[in-house]
Amino acid sequence: MGEVMNVAKIFGEDVFNDTVMQERLPKKVYRDLKKMIQEGKELDLATADVIAHEMKEWAIEKGATHYTHWFQPLTGVTAEKHDSFISAPMENGKVLMSFSGKELIKGEPDASSFPSGGLRATFEARGYTAWDCTSPAFVRHDAAGATLCIPTAFCSYTGEALDQKTPLLRSMQAINEQSLRLIRLFGNTTAKKVTPSVGPEQEYFLVDAEKFMQRKDLIYTGRTLFGAMPPKGQELDDHYFGTIRQRIAGFMKDVNEELWKVGVSAKTQHNEVAPAQHELAPIYAECNVAVDHNHLVMQTLKRIASQHGMKCLLHEKPFAGVNGSGKHNNWSLTTDEGRNLLEPGKAPHENIQFLLVLTCVLKAVDEHADLLRESAADPGNDHRLGANEAPPAIISVFLGEQLEDVIQQLIRTGEATHSLKGGALETGVDTLPDVKKDATDRNRTSPFAFTGNKFEFRMVGSRDSIAAPNVVLNTIVAEAFAEACDVLEQAKGEDFHKAVHDLIKKYATEHHRIVFNGDGYADAWVAEAERRGLPNIKSMVEAISALTTDKAIRLFERFHVFTEAELLSRAEIKYENYAKIINIEAKTMIDMASKQIIPAIMKYTKTLADTVVAVKEAGADASVQSEALADVTALLKEASGALKALEKITQEAGTMEEGKEQAEFFKFRVFPAMDALREPVDKLEMIVDKEAWPMPSYGDLIFEV
Ligand code: ADP
Ligand code: MG
Repeated sequence: MGEVMNVAKIFGEDVFNDTVMQERLPKKVYRDLKKMIQEGKELDLATADVIAHEMKEWAIEKGATHYTHWFQPLTGVTAEKHDSFISAPMENGKVLMSFSGKELIKGEPDASSFPSGGLRATFEARGYTAWDCTSPAFVRHDAAGATLCIPTAFCSYTGEALDQKTPLLRSMQAINEQSLRLIRLFGNTTAKKVTPSVGPEQEYFLVDAEKFMQRKDLIYTGRTLFGAMPPKGQELDDHYFGTIRQRIAGFMKDVNEELWKVGVSAKTQHNEVAPAQHELAPIYAECNVAVDHNHLVMQTLKRIASQHGMKCLLHEKPFAGVNGSGKHNNWSLTTDEGRNLLEPGKAPHENIQFLLVLTCVLKAVDEHADLLRESAADPGNDHRLGANEAPPAIISVFLGEQLEDVIQQLIRTGEATHSLKGGALETGVDTLPDVKKDATDRNRTSPFAFTGNKFEFRMVGSRDSIAAPNVVLNTIVAEAFAEACDVLEQAKGEDFHKAVHDLIKKYATEHHRIVFNGDGYADAWVAEAERRGLPNIKSMVEAISALTTDKAIRLFERFHVFTEAELLSRAEIKYENYAKIINIEAKTMIDMASKQIIPAIMKYTKTLADTVVAVKEAGADASVQSEALADVTALLKEASGALKALEKITQEAGTMEEGKEQAEFFKFRVFPAMDALREPVDKLEMIVDKEAWPMPSYGDLIFEV
């Protein structure tokens, strides 16, 4: 056995956190920095120089040779450019290690190779990265050695956001301001800040690296583009929460250790529904930090998997017919005094502030369901949403029995007088303690569920950044709070309580259509949702336009989260991104079909034909062999025709100008052509000799990790 791991000791050991700053920074500098972190004050260059120097010294002690501004351009992954600490050689040929305040605060990578969705054309190509001191710097150890990573925002020369972090920080400011307004109305005069708390639950698959390398689809697209179902799938539910196999356990141990070192509080791990599928959840953190940490989680899963001879698949749907992967985004609002605005307490019906917050969230989600839906749209998630394994593509809110009852009382009478109680869960076994039952059962089919003291947005894709969903959540709730405060601040002198009650009743009544506590997978819900007038946006390309409606522009401009130009550019980038991804998938299919699958089948038909001849020559009955040959030949013909059709349509798509129309063409023309090719190929896989098939099967991939 290896050495004992001391979690408390290693946790955060590679983070330039508060303890380190207190230890190393002069008192005044530390105070200034804290002020900047807490209140958003500006830092002067002299102070920044001191911080940079100490950060560098600390990082060098950890073995760091380089630093990087770690940022989140609109590619979906993080980006970094490494600079070593060495300065120009001195006369004696030696070098000094240096890192200035300017280098800490600001970087200037060339922005022209990152997606800007038209912003580049109108503005300068230059891009700036700016230190986000609210997310601590850390030292990462990997094959490159040790690198000081400085979380940064990424903007154009004129200040347009070119990344995920900038709007996120802006949205946190918006929700902070409006939440403070709201709690002041209820008599809180002491809280200085309200921050969204976020806990994302990350799902992923692990497959054997050698087998992965034999599948071009996994290599180029992250998902399988062909593949017949194995005889056994997930129908026995024997993987979910099952015993973790040793190979996986060893991987998880290393993942946890790496994450703990960089301050990510990896907490829960278990097997998920599908074979080879797993989940990792950290303890929730401040929104901004949670987003950065989720990137670290995804990167660490990938890196450690490789070290263990495996590959981590973060794609939302690596295997057709097998459960896909998502990322539940748990969200609540916490004051700097530690109070959660979504905590109903023991008697929710009496908790007027909570009821106002709750009904504001209902209003926000109802009015901006399209934006929330869009925020979870990525090409991979199109395979999940509405496919009876993930939430439906229709946004609705699950409140559970207890709150639904309170809301019903409010709608009926404007007063809520009691709350349903949970009671005790009796196990019937004397030696087991009686567990207190929650007042509300779980509902797995709801895209947006209230779970005790937080909302859980369950639509997010496993590969996607959680930045966009949180930008939307923060901003739409900020708007609802602002509108409520506009009304209630007027009512102050008068009967405040009556005004609040009236408002809660109004919101509950007007937006109750968004509440749905039933089975989100049932067909009846689709019809019911339509009757209620709730949007059912089925795919990414259909969702994107939500970003650029007048309603969205008004919302985001009012709270200074996005300008109209930024929204237009983001929509543009998303259309382009969708088209590019489907184009790569189509080309990969064409490549695999024409260079691997069809040649393999041709060879196989030759073997079959030889067999038929040989059997006949031996004077035996060759009808079975002949039939097999005929079946395979027919499917081969179908596959070959579908391949030609896919080639043609993909080529046509490639000649189109980038943008919405092209994305739609990929979705509605190219995508079906891909399915048409897959169908005969998957049938062939079922009847062709396993030895003759040119790549590992689903069974090989998901049952033999
Ligand atoms: P599950 O949803 O599987 O029951 P938990 O409820 O324990 O799991 O938590 C899931 C995630 O939600 C974790 O990351 C957890 O830290 C986070 N979480 C718990 N409470 C809150 C909260 N008040 N605000 C935001 N996230 C939270
Ligand atoms: Mg959960």
